[in-house]
Amino acid sequence: MKTRKTHLENAKTIVVKVGTSTITHESGLLNFDRIEKLVRQLSDLRNQGKNVILVTSGAIGVGANKLGLKLKPQTIPEKQAAAAIGQGILLHIYEKFFSEYGEIVAQILLTKDDITNKARYNNATNAFNELLRHGVIPIVNENDAVAVHEIKVGDNDTLSALVATIVNADLLILLSDIDGLYDSDPKINNNAKLLTYIPHITKEVESCAGITKSKLGTGGMSTKLKAAKLAVENGVSMIIANGSNDTIIKDIISNREIGTLFLGKNKGGEL
Ligand code: GLU
Repeated sequence: MKTRKTHLENAKTIVVKVGTSTITHESGLLNFDRIEKLVRQLSDLRNQGKNVILVTSGAIGVGANKLGLKLKPQTIPEKQAAAAIGQGILLHIYEKFFSEYGEIVAQILLTKDDITNKARYNNATNAFNELLRHGVIPIVNENDAVAVHEIKVGDNDTLSALVATIVNADLLILLSDIDGLYDSDPKINNNAKLLTYIPHITKEVESCAGITKSKLGTGGMSTKLKAAKLAVENGVSMIIANGSNDTIIKDIISNREIGTLFLGKNKGGEL
């Protein structure tokens, strides 16, 4: 019988998604300390022989900040331009920190077409597999500079579940500004309980997603639950946890009771 511990420790291919709120300060500028600690933990996973894929948000926010925009970009062309600027800055920073730990990174920018079109899906799968075979860490985002409404996945929670499916991941870690899914709103109810393990996504679980709110980001809890459904259905286990904890990834892999874990279908065993 597989325990929660062996399930997490044995995860070989791990996708980690970070939201804008995790990698930026409230000012909108990058949180270098947070990014460095994230990179260090991911590099450590590589040193344990794991395949690591990072899905990162932040391109639009960082680009808007660089342009000195006072308000969040509103129009699609504004968002496209901000993303094109921000994406370069993001990659530059990740490349800098990862290279300090001897890791090679690669950028993969996807749109919905890359998932829905079979030939493009196969191309994306081949690219990921080849990079992982060489021990490279793919860094993924939506290709926001060209992905207008019709061809957009729309949020990186969903994108990361799709990426986890493409690479046949064992575990998807969604890092956000909340500890996980609660049974009631922790800001109102002191006795709100964190749901640590969700074997099945029931109607009751879905109703909990409506009351657990995250501060920033495109997603919020309902898109996280949508991502969880997608991941679980495709055999990937998923955990939602708080990215402001600097040892979060290590804690998850070493099975500290942390975050909300959804068990991927056919993973087998009790947790
Ligand atoms: N792709 C967007 C960005 O990099 C983020 C989407 C999301 O927050 O889910 O700005």
